[in-house]
Amino acid sequence: MAKDENGKKPTLTTVDGIPIGKQQALTAGPRGPLLMQDVHLLEQMQHFNRERIPERVVHAKGSGAYGTFTVTNDISKYTKAAFLNKVGKKTEVFARFSTVAGERGAADAERDVRGFAVKFYTEEGNWDMVGNNTPVFFVRDPYKFQMFIHTQKRDPKSNLRDMDMQWDFWSQCPESLHQVTILFSDRGIPASYRHMNGYGSHTYSFINSQGERVWCKFHFKTDQGIKNLMDDESANAIAGDRETHQRDLFTSIEKGEFPSWTMKVQVMTEEQAKAFKWNPFDLTKVWPHADFPLIEVGKFELNRNPENYHAEVEQSAFNPSALVPGIGPSPDKMLQARLMSYADTHLYRVGVNYRQLPVNKPKCPVMSYMRDGSMDQGEFGGKPNYWPNTREGAPVPNPAYEDPAWKLGETIVDRFDSTQDHDDFTQAGNLYRMFDDAHRDRLAGRIAGVLGQARKELQLLQICHFSRADEDYGRRVAEKLGIDIGAAMKEMAHAPVG
Ligand code: NDP
Repeated sequence: MAKDENGKKPTLTTVDGIPIGKQQALTAGPRGPLLMQDVHLLEQMQHFNRERIPERVVHAKGSGAYGTFTVTNDISKYTKAAFLNKVGKKTEVFARFSTVAGERGAADAERDVRGFAVKFYTEEGNWDMVGNNTPVFFVRDPYKFQMFIHTQKRDPKSNLRDMDMQWDFWSQCPESLHQVTILFSDRGIPASYRHMNGYGSHTYSFINSQGERVWCKFHFKTDQGIKNLMDDESANAIAGDRETHQRDLFTSIEKGEFPSWTMKVQVMTEEQAKAFKWNPFDLTKVWPHADFPLIEVGKFELNRNPENYHAEVEQSAFNPSALVPGIGPSPDKMLQARLMSYADTHLYRVGVNYRQLPVNKPKCPVMSYMRDGSMDQGEFGGKPNYWPNTREGAPVPNPAYEDPAWKLGETIVDRFDSTQDHDDFTQAGNLYRMFDDAHRDRLAGRIAGVLGQARKELQLLQICHFSRADEDYGRRVAEKLGIDIGAAMKEMAHAPVG
């Protein structure tokens, strides 16, 4: 056991921090039985029973490391993403590589697609680039995604992986042919995670500071060069070591041999998208390099291993929905489905507050109104938990971050303002006018009873609302509150609503 700075070994404690004098079962006599009051033993057994969290359904076996992304080329004409806005700018990253089909104990060197996920801790929130080592995928319709994964897992009866099931699905889904060809090509078994490329695969959008949108695809080219295993090499590797890729990544970083990848993008304008011979949002297709050349953006290097695999790799959570200003989604149906599905799986797998864990936590301030839930660290203290509000210092949306509208055919996709062009007063007034005098008085009395407990400025604002519905309504509530309606209306003449 390690010694502390005074040269003494630290005292063992319970998880409540209580010092432990002897680490042996408490028994009635040397041969037992055990006593219920040996709470430390009970606690140890209970904790052990709860050590595992649900395994990821896909990408269960993974390896992760921290690093740094550095911008090498200015692409601000395409995107306003702040972390990309200056050559030389650095952003911390955490990357996780994985196999797709195998469970947590699967061998690393199997023929399979590899997950390639990078979390960029940018100054405007986390950008999660959740891709693969292939530029395309097996299916383009999200209805087929879960079905496809079932075919990659185990037969419900035999619990064996089943080639008939896999080829049954692929034969019914010719859109899988491109990815099947890559999977069974010489690039189907990467020699290590360091020796493979990564791809965002989906089409995303870039938005620049003028509000102009282009479509884009992300590429991460390995600086170590592509290296793959032939079938016999893979069989030998697995026979000797099931953790080849984890071992390779971990030991390279421990030795100071830091792997790196060069980030590049392809860009397509709206006009080019209309003229493109394939659907540019189809995940089973690439954009040919000759037509859409790769543009360099930067480089990320992995230079630090996690201290604790479970806390930092197993509990790391990547969501394609984590998109920073300047990078947005596209109509790609698979991407649209993944925008929900990935965050949802982490809510189940890790818990509702998974974003508060250090590996998932943004490095920039979080100013949200989402609260509570299991394991909440209470980072917002007593700050308000609702919006809209008039509370001092409470966060508000910033129009500088509004995205431009999308025009999809005749339909405009936008965040339409539901507070504008609405008559919120006539029907409330009609109802008020149906009440007889005594009823109106009871109504005003009840409202004043509770409204009187709110701040004065809210009382005035609310009186304006009542008055807009019916002048008498406002006057009665004001009277019950002891407020001079004339003065109140004058004071609030220019008050903002909501
Ligand atoms: P290019 O000749 O411009 O590009 C060919 C690409 O294929 C290169 O990126 C190369 O990667 C990659 N490649 C080589 N061998 C394999 C393999 N066994 N499995 C997967 N990728 C491989 O042609 P196009 O852009 O017209 O694309 C032609 C085909 O290349 C596509 O249908 C697709 O299967 C594949 N491809 C295309 C990509 C794209 O974004 N256009 C990206 C990756 C693959 P590298 O340069 O790293 O050696």
